[in-house]
Amino acid sequence: MTVQATFIEPDFTDPRLQSTTTYDMKIDGKDVGSRTGEMIEREAPGHMGVIVARYPLGTREDVNDAVTAAREAFDTGPWPRMPIGERSRIMLKVADLIERDAEELATIESLEVGKAIADARKDLNGCVELWRYAAGVARSMHGDVHTNLGDDLVGMVLREPVGVVGVITPWNFPLLIACERLPWILGMGCTAVVKPSEFTSGATLRLVDLLREAGVPDGAVNVVTGYGDPVGDEVTRNPGVDMVSFTGSLKVGRIVGAVAAESVKRVSLELGGKGPQIIFADADIDAAVDGAAFGVLFNNGQCCISGSRNIVERSIQDEFLSRLREVVGSVTFGDPLNDKTMVGSVINRSQIEKIDSYVAAGRDAGAEVETGGQRIAANKGLYFEPTVFSKVREDMSIAREEIFGPVLSVLSFEDPEEALRVANDSVYGLSGSVWTRDVGKAMSTIRRLRAGKTWVNGVIDSHVEMPLGGYKQSGLARETGRYGFDTYSEFKTVHLKYGERKMWASGRGR
Ligand code: NAD
Repeated sequence: MTVQATFIEPDFTDPRLQSTTTYDMKIDGKDVGSRTGEMIEREAPGHMGVIVARYPLGTREDVNDAVTAAREAFDTGPWPRMPIGERSRIMLKVADLIERDAEELATIESLEVGKAIADARKDLNGCVELWRYAAGVARSMHGDVHTNLGDDLVGMVLREPVGVVGVITPWNFPLLIACERLPWILGMGCTAVVKPSEFTSGATLRLVDLLREAGVPDGAVNVVTGYGDPVGDEVTRNPGVDMVSFTGSLKVGRIVGAVAAESVKRVSLELGGKGPQIIFADADIDAAVDGAAFGVLFNNGQCCISGSRNIVERSIQDEFLSRLREVVGSVTFGDPLNDKTMVGSVINRSQIEKIDSYVAAGRDAGAEVETGGQRIAANKGLYFEPTVFSKVREDMSIAREEIFGPVLSVLSFEDPEEALRVANDSVYGLSGSVWTRDVGKAMSTIRRLRAGKTWVNGVIDSHVEMPLGGYKQSGLARETGRYGFDTYSEFKTVHLKYGERKMWASGRGR
């Protein structure tokens, strides 16, 4: 008998649902409303019909105002010129303020994203860590001196801020992703114009209030709300922007890369994934099964580093699937605001339809549903049962494409070469896992995995000290860790010559 995950009915009487927050944009230290009067309404995806937020419908002119403010703050303002100790103290204060307001911010995230409140609280802990780490490490982001270039020459490498950064973010971890970028941008002395997702702008706007309170000067961080086109497009095109830091889908990432190339802007792209998890027969099977369930159900599978493709050694496949059905059956999904919920709602209608159509395509192609596979009645909210497919072949869309939902595809392999070939057979290269008790096998497999973030006997877990970024079409550049500062740096060389010049014109060289 298959055990199904338990659905927690959404509670529409929850006091946190009883009011709608109306936000302003944040431009040059001011709260700015919609110039046309038009607003974007956000319906709570976990509680259909309840409007929880309204954000101004931003325009190209709003972006231009924000870029002008960020440009001025960079070119003549105090932030890039401030001694790093002072900048660092302000950033530490930001961390304290996020900690102070963590419950309010977690509630905004849970309401707008449909994220389980327990996970939203963990995201907030992550945000605090990110600011504290970057505030400290930014202090050691200075240049280098070369003393071995000759007797009369010292070479200097000056590390400088890249300038005004346009930051475009997705909806799955709205505040966490903003906090994986902004402390590095600000730590380097850059200024920013942020364009959050049109579905989940609330927490990013509240963050700017906290930046102000901490002492970040006017214009250093601006937020313009609205749709990808025109707002994101204008951020990417505007000549006042030096660099675009884009996090989102491969489809939009390609557009952003192409538009930014017209003005040869620096670009970082953090895009999608279809993370493989290779499970060898000698793995701790309980741990691997737990990792398989967590890897695809964390944040409802709406996670760029989800482990959404399991590649399991054939000899343990039946046992693996039977235990996986049990574990997925013990999961709770439903009302994001309920403390007991492990998996919340899907982000929006088009995303749940997309999940539904992938599940139909998987069935039609001959894959077998081991558990789940159904949508919950639409009037309750956007909920999809945690779903596991077995008998998946490499050529099926559920094995190749990023579904971005609670849908796991289980494939099988006979020998390590086949496992690696299947794992690497993807346009993506963001993340991947290997489960085994044999360290040699683990490392030789991981070293041949074409992916930027990997785990042995783990999945998804992240540390602020470690960089994140993709191989192949999962992106360009790295965020977080000490490497993240390079993404927002320019390197200028200075050749400081203090000896007598060997005259070129008199034939003595230089
Ligand atoms: P999306 O690409 O649809 O949107 C991302 C952002 O781009 C939004 O703010 C959107 O308004 C904006 N945008 C849309 N069209 C634009 C345009 N023409 N020009 C400029 N900006 C435009 O992505 P999404 O649906 O919000 O997020 C899900 C995707 O993000 C998934 O593919 C996921 O894997 C990826 N993601 C990647 C990472 C990472 O670090 N690699 C992290 C989180 C999410």
